[in-house]
Amino acid sequence: MNADLDRHFPAEVWEEYVLGMRSEEDCKLLEEHLLICSTCQDLLVQADEYIRIMKAALAQDAPADPGGKPVTGAGSRKSLSKPFKASAALAGGMLLAWGS
Ligand SMILES: [Zn+2]
Repeated sequence: MNADLDRHFPAEVWEEYVLGMRSEEDCKLLEEHLLICSTCQDLLVQADEYIRIMKAALAQDAPADPGGKPVTGAGSRKSLSKPFKASAALAGGMLLAWGS
């Protein structure tokens, strides 16, 4: 048990705990450890804060995205060109239909 006291849980584990990604059994262990370990209490607070900031950043990003940001990534440009080509072909077909 003493060896356990010396071993702290990494920040990663606390982040997963905050996110609810840890099993019930893990949560019990973590909460028991929290009662006796101020180091991990700090880690938990930091993890909690980190995740709140992350979520806030994601929430800010999401609504601003459509149409707002210029497309810079080659990957996203690739994914954009496909539907564009499809609709261009469709428009071309429609023009041909109208012309005849
Ligand atoms: Zn600890």
